[in-house]
Amino acid sequence: MIRRLLIANRGEIAVRIARTARAMGLETVAVHSDADAGALHVAAADRAVRIGPAAPSESYLDAAKVIEAARATGADAIHPGYGFLSENPGFVEAVAAAGLVFVGPPAAAIRAMGLKDAAKRAMAEAGVPVVPGYHGEAQDDDHLEGAAEAIGYPVLIKAVAGGGGKGMRRVADPAGFREALASCRAEARAAFGDDRVLVEKWIESPRHVEVQVFADAHGNVIHLNERDCSLQRRHQKVIEEAPAPGMSPEVRAAMGAAAVRAAEAIGYVGAGTVEFIADGARGLRSDGFWFMEMNTRLQVEHPVTEAVTGLDLVEWQLRVAAGERLPLAQSEVPLEGHAMEARLYAEDPAAGFLPATGRLTHLRFPAGVRVDTGVRSGDTVSPHYDPMIAKVIAHGPDRETSRRRLVQALRATEVAGCVTNLGFLARLADEADFAAGAVDTGLIERAGKALMAEPAPSARAMAAAALAVARPEAAGPQAGFTLWAPLLHEVRLLHAGEEIVVGLSMGGADRAQLVALGVTVAAELRSGGWWLDGSPAPAAHVEGARVTVFDGGPVPFAVPDPLARGAAAGPSGDVVEAPMPGLVRALLVAPGDTVSAGQRLAVLEAMKMEHALAASRDGAVAECLVAEGAQVEAGAALIRLAPEGGPETEAAE
Ligand code: ADP
Ligand code: ADP
Ligand code: MG
Repeated sequence: MIRRLLIANRGEIAVRIARTARAMGLETVAVHSDADAGALHVAAADRAVRIGPAAPSESYLDAAKVIEAARATGADAIHPGYGFLSENPGFVEAVAAAGLVFVGPPAAAIRAMGLKDAAKRAMAEAGVPVVPGYHGEAQDDDHLEGAAEAIGYPVLIKAVAGGGGKGMRRVADPAGFREALASCRAEARAAFGDDRVLVEKWIESPRHVEVQVFADAHGNVIHLNERDCSLQRRHQKVIEEAPAPGMSPEVRAAMGAAAVRAAEAIGYVGAGTVEFIADGARGLRSDGFWFMEMNTRLQVEHPVTEAVTGLDLVEWQLRVAAGERLPLAQSEVPLEGHAMEARLYAEDPAAGFLPATGRLTHLRFPAGVRVDTGVRSGDTVSPHYDPMIAKVIAHGPDRETSRRRLVQALRATEVAGCVTNLGFLARLADEADFAAGAVDTGLIERAGKALMAEPAPSARAMAAAALAVARPEAAGPQAGFTLWAPLLHEVRLLHAGEEIVVGLSMGGADRAQLVALGVTVAAELRSGGWWLDGSPAPAAHVEGARVTVFDGGPVPFAVPDPLARGAAAGPSGDVVEAPMPGLVRALLVAPGDTVSAGQRLAVLEAMKMEHALAASRDGAVAECLVAEGAQVEAGAALIRLAPEGGPETEAAE
């Protein structure tokens, strides 16, 4: 019996586990680093314990601190979530030694699947089809090259300790083998502290199809159907779905049986995922899938399985951990409709999916889909942890309905303050091959630029941005009319480094006409909100000099000179602050310099645009608080002017 559960994780998964634990009547204990003291997962739990500074190695990865937190709070069980300590057999043993229940598999099962080479040998022995290749101990170059020759090119070199898509090199022909081997080893050594590799056949038209398995401590093992996770970038999942497109009951039964055999072979208990690679060229077949690895934990994409089975996998985990039997037999497992999940990340797809950080100044999700998230508006995506913002999960009676719901939900999601992959996800979910169910792991790369490129902003988006900046409605109905008409007001905006001038003329208290790049948009104020050409204007979020319009996806604009917006320079005018998170491109002044109002002091690069920061008054520079090249948060003090009317009193060295 579990009464009080400590959740040894953060972010969306910690929040999600707390939700089920509460529903089951369990008390929950969160752990957090200093960086997460105010995080959503802390608020989601009944109690919270600080376990250290921001660095994961000193907090979420510190087994002793986590176990001490459980002891101190009287927790009787620990759920590890995914990542962090979830697949660490030493942690599992330490939890047991402390007299606590680990919500997950036995340490021996984790060890059996911990290294890809040993796991593959064990699976081959258990009669599970494995990708043909070399999984042996010998690691000298000649031996591995000979193995590749015997397997036949193209081959894939994989770090045996690999994970998260790292430590993998596809090699097309013998000429490229040595170099790929060296770089794979170097990456593996750096990422996993282990440079051993295996070599396997590269499966053409690869599809990633995985099976969710569940086992109890009484010898029962079943599967909860499959998920297709073929939409990947750099071997990492982007959109997942269940069931797999084109899956037949026969192939499902064959894959399910192989996955159950894999779990049985290692004495598995709890939730696990057996990942297979399938040859997608001729459709899914009973003899066309091979074991890749087993993830001995709850998977990021488990919600799509929950959607199509109607089951709560975390509830099952907790019941199994408490010693209960599996609630259903294999034949009773439901499979209804189709579900898709998209992973929303703070990252820049156009810059090679470079992770981003920053404050989420605005975050809003539409109704009608499941959203698992660990952040709220105002929270910061820090460089310390995974930059996932949320998972958006759509369910429908069939694949096309779930796909359209996902597209709509992504288009209606509002996120500002941080570069994200939101627009990319919406385009990917609407891509022709994906829509047709023709998926394989090369799809994103093939679709390429069409998915990465943000479309040019529409005239509607520019008009909405201009209205959000100028706010003619705030002047009041009468003032609006008298103030604006017949004047043509010009609103200057920046988008992708280009200046856009939007003409705005009021045609009365509650109507205006905007002209953006030659396109005329009619605006009308209806019960406090602007309508453009007869439909509600896209929402706009203004934060400092930054305006984000949500026009089927976030469209970022900036106001060229923050001073044009009055208060942006701050109340005192002594300190020049960063209006948004960004990189300090240039410092144009030094301490002691005399400056005049409006003079450019520094250039900040944000959202791939440059913003000049100007002095709000005449004066002298007292201090430069950052260096060129520094990454700064919104509101960070960059330059301090000497107080007005007094000499700079700072002691000089
Ligand atoms: P999946 O669980 O579907 O296999 P991936 O293989 O893409 O997902 O990545 C999951 C792994 O990424 C986790 O096991 C963990 O190592 C890491 N990870 C991702 N997000 C987080 C997070 N928020 N906190 C900790 N680790 C994470
Ligand atoms: P990780 O531990 O990093 O998740 P996996 O072994 O699960 O590593 O492989 C990650 C991804 O790499 C798979 O989802 C698949 O897209 C691709 N991949 C792995 N093995 C092969 C293969 N033999 N042929 C083609 N693609 C593969
Ligand atoms: Mg994997």
